Amino acid sequence: MIESPVRDSKSNGSVERAVRTWAAQVRTLRHHLESRIKVKVPRTSALMTWLVAWSADVINRYKVRSSGRTSYEHITGHRGLQAITAFGEKVMFKYTTDKTKRNKMETEWDTGYFVGINSRTTEYLIAKGSGIFSTTTIRRQQDDKSYDPEIVTEVNVLHRDSVMQGSKSTPTEVRAHTTTPSLPNSAVPPVMPRRAKLRQEDFIDFGYTVGCPGCESIQLESNVRRGHNEKCRKRMEEELSKTDRGKDK
Ligand SMILES: [Zn+2]
Repeated sequence: MIESPVRDSKSNGSVERAVRTWAAQVRTLRHHLESRIKVKVPRTSALMTWLVAWSADVINRYKVRSSGRTSYEHITGHRGLQAITAFGEKVMFKYTTDKTKRNKMETEWDTGYFVGINSRTTEYLIAKGSGIFSTTTIRRQQDDKSYDPEIVTEVNVLHRDSVMQGSKSTPTEVRAHTTTPSLPNSAVPPVMPRRAKLRQEDFIDFGYTVGCPGCESIQLESNVRRGHNEKCRKRMEEELSKTDRGKDK
């Protein structure tokens, strides 16, 4: 088994701060949306899973670190996107043209709710009916039309289900926390024990796996802790194997 080194109070403090930042972001977005739609967003709603995921993105993309770059830039090497709309806002959007150009809807505008950005393609994610659509083109509506309480019942796809369906052949999407990731070690990675014990601090170091039920429950601060999926465990074990903690075995 992996033995964890004793953490000093300083590093525990930064862990607590990071978790607080995350929770505060979720609260802020939730309150903002609720004040506009005039109804509560239930904690157990599908919409809430998107709000939690977007909160992480907001922190990663827009929070400028002491180095002057956001953590999103650290990961991707690209500058973060400009947020042109708020979470849950009802916007107009165009369906993205498919490769065969058979999509008749491509030139027509429709309305849906902004729920995030696809970090791979940087397209906007729009919830519409029971679907999540990716689009490059959105337009804000007049203020009196820009929020709709129907969003609470209309969005019924869980964030992780959407990610799972859309990422079958792509690398595991990672949403990093705001602490500096350790540099990959050039040394040969040690052989890892069968299963590493994953701790909350590890996710703050290495980020949450998009689409993992365990990671989602941490972010939701849920009392019910769910297990991490295989994809998540694999990624975390790889990350841990690069650290002193992993090397100590
Ligand atoms: Zn996980």
